[in-house]
Amino acid sequence: MTTIATILETVKGPEANGAKCLPSQAQVNYFMALANGKQVGENERAHLIEYLPNLDRRTMAALIQWMVGLPWKPRPVVTSQSPKHPIMEGCYAIIHPGDGVLRFYEVRKPTKGKWAGFVFLSQLSGENHIRIREQGEREIVYGEISKNPMDSLKRFGQHIGRCGHCRKQLTDSESRQIGIGPVCRKHLGVESC
Ligand SMILES: [Zn+2]
Repeated sequence: MTTIATILETVKGPEANGAKCLPSQAQVNYFMALANGKQVGENERAHLIEYLPNLDRRTMAALIQWMVGLPWKPRPVVTSQSPKHPIMEGCYAIIHPGDGVLRFYEVRKPTKGKWAGFVFLSQLSGENHIRIREQGEREIVYGEISKNPMDSLKRFGQHIGRCGHCRKQLTDSESRQIGIGPVCRKHLGVESC
C-alpha cells in the first residue's frame, strides 16, 4: 500500500541535477488543493501540510502524483436556489476559516420578481458588494454562518454599527453592544442585556 512514508523513501537521495529545486507557487497551490480536497486520512492530511515547507520540487511532484490518483472528498451538492443551510436574510460577520480574517457578508433572499427563491451571497467590503458565485466558497461562508447565525448577525452589528437584520443604524449603546436594534430584537426574540 502506498503511504506518504513510502513515497518520501522513493525520492530520497541527491537530485539528478544536483541542487535542491524549490517547488513553484503553482505547484504549492496545487499541492494544497489536493491535500485539502482528496480523501486522505486526517493524520495524513496534517502530515502533508506539515511537510509542505520542506519539500523540494521532486518530492512534491511525487506526492502530487500520488494524491491525483486518490478520490476527491465527497462534496455536498448545492444550488444557488436552495442552499443546504437555510439562513435568513441579513448581514453577518464571520471569521473566515480559510485565513482567520473577520469578514462581512450579506445574504439576500428576494421574495418577489424574477429572482424570487434565489439566495444571493455577497461579501461587503467598504462600499462594495462582491457577489460570491463560487460554490465551494459559498459553502464555506454558509457553513460558518450557520454554526451560529444569531451570533454572526450580532457580530455584524457590533462591528459595523448597523443592525444585521434591517441594516438601520444602531444609535443607542445597548443596541450597539448587542448588535441588533430594539425592534428587530423583539421580532427575533433576542434578549436585551
Ligand atoms: Zn434591525
